[in-house]
Amino acid sequence: MNIEQIKQPFTDIFLGDFSDNPMQRNTPKVLFATVKPAGFDGPKLIAFNETLAEETGLGPYEEKDLDFLVGNNLPENVKTYATAYAGHQFGNWAGQLGDGRAILAGEIISKDGKKTEIQWKGSGATPYSRHADGRAVLRSSVREYLMSEAMYHLGVPTTRALSLAFTGEDVVRDMMYNGNPQLEKGAVVIRTAESFLRFGHFELISAQQEYKTLQDLVDFTIKNYYPEITTDGIEKYKHFFESLCTRTANLMTEWFRVGFVHGVMNTDNMSVLGLTVDYGPYSMMDEYDLNFTPNTTDLPGRRYAFGKQGQISQWNLWQLANALHPLIKDEKFLENTLNHYGSYFWEAHDKMLCKKFGFDELRESDEEFFTNWQGLMQELQLDYTLFFNQLEKLNPESDVKSLFENVSYVVLTDQRVRKLEDFAKKYEARLISNTISREKSLSLMKQSNPKFTLRNYLLYECIEEINAGKTEMLEKLTRALENPYEELYPEFSAKRPSAYDDTTGCSTLSCSS
Ligand code: AMP
Ligand code: MG
Repeated sequence: MNIEQIKQPFTDIFLGDFSDNPMQRNTPKVLFATVKPAGFDGPKLIAFNETLAEETGLGPYEEKDLDFLVGNNLPENVKTYATAYAGHQFGNWAGQLGDGRAILAGEIISKDGKKTEIQWKGSGATPYSRHADGRAVLRSSVREYLMSEAMYHLGVPTTRALSLAFTGEDVVRDMMYNGNPQLEKGAVVIRTAESFLRFGHFELISAQQEYKTLQDLVDFTIKNYYPEITTDGIEKYKHFFESLCTRTANLMTEWFRVGFVHGVMNTDNMSVLGLTVDYGPYSMMDEYDLNFTPNTTDLPGRRYAFGKQGQISQWNLWQLANALHPLIKDEKFLENTLNHYGSYFWEAHDKMLCKKFGFDELRESDEEFFTNWQGLMQELQLDYTLFFNQLEKLNPESDVKSLFENVSYVVLTDQRVRKLEDFAKKYEARLISNTISREKSLSLMKQSNPKFTLRNYLLYECIEEINAGKTEMLEKLTRALENPYEELYPEFSAKRPSAYDDTTGCSTLSCSS
């Protein structure tokens, strides 16, 4: 890999703490602190993403690069650092947080000018580790590595994953926070993004009333990641906030399209570029449920349930609006933009649903159709992904019971079959009124409805296998997630086996990582 081409433009521009002191502390007025990865004695490669390495300009992996994958023996040019951010966690201001288990190597620029930040997750403590160890376990590292790539191939904006390696060190974790600590294998993921900047970076510096730094940070963000913004002064900052709102609404729509629940939508986990960032207790949805909340830390409140992600993103943007107010200085504008967000999001969301159903355009009557459909999905506990796959096969002659029987998590009683038949009639009537051909309608459906989604139980099985020293499942899942709109493996196009209904780490997850 071309490790020698990695640079740190961020630390050249902004104020930082250059003491290299990993002791946990507040670092007021700065955006980062330099810190070295812990270093690990027994690194072992689990997976490497050759295509991403090529795209970023890092180039192919050689055996000598193994050290770099866990942050060992870094060359002179890799001056590592952790960034400081703040955030609202579960609705409350949490003050300074920061990269607690992530350390940045810096940025690389590909031949065609694409910028990519590179960071280790799980490579050791930083000033922002808040009494934790800065390590990550295999379980959470596999989940981040595979899911971020799965999202990328689904077409959802996301950070990506370059490598997954064992550290050779064991880590103690109490997975469900119930007084049951166990030793787990430690691992490190290298993840990449155009930028890892979060809402929380802006909130931190604004809360400290460091408005000059705030302005510099917004200018930096616009210059590097919002090239479409060409206005100046306050207009520029308004334009930035509007664009970020659009990107965020589009991201939420994409999460709804594929059935992704983030799990911890705190403002420190919200990307300023509109990317999915921080894969923790996330989950793809099996049976459709607007209340689905995989993160046990979020019970019983269900703040971050599947169906609430639109509203929550708006709440998070309110917090960012507060942070940006000293620059934009126009309450009315911020309020209007945020109010518009709600209507923009729901329209984008409904247009997305139209495509999933193969409808030509969004009509007023579709809203009622969608509400009825949601009720049906919820009541019959239909699998979100498989439902749409089966819907493509529906025609006026279909026997709906046999079409949807293997897609429901409850028994399809006669009464339930009647509800399905009723839905099918309404659906067909809506299709007939389409102004586009059936082929065009089917092609919309095929582009919007994945055949493969990375279900929790598959991840769970994959982690068990890697723990036992095997990687067949990892390789198979990698191929499947790289081609989510095809059915490469029929065994993956099936419901979650009932044996996994209540498995910890499968149907229920915690933030422990
Ligand atoms: P998260 O729930 O992943 O968004 O993390 C919230 C905050 O806790 C972030 O500042 C993390 O960096 C920090 N954090 C979580 N786990 C650890 C850990 N094992 N070591 C250090 N910091 C951590
Ligand atoms: Mg986080």
